[in-house]
Amino acid sequence: MYFSFFNKPLTKCNRCGFKTPTEEGKCQYCHDLTEVEVDEMLKEHSIKFKGNPTLIKRAYLLLVCILLLLYLYKFIE
Ligand SMILES: [Zn+2]
Repeated sequence: MYFSFFNKPLTKCNRCGFKTPTEEGKCQYCHDLTEVEVDEMLKEHSIKFKGNPTLIKRAYLLLVCILLLLYLYKFIE
């Protein structure tokens, strides 16, 4: 059931840019939203999208620091 859902052909919505199943005929993300609501949804989406790489970068930096500390600790011993 889930698998067949992912295999459905998708069409990019002209209004919000999200991909929606072609056979639906209308966008499942914005068909019941006003222009203002679509704008707000897209803003929220872009904020979330920009926020993620920063988190990954921070986590990566933390990991590098921990590895460096472990390396130095071994070196001292
Ligand atoms: Zn849409």
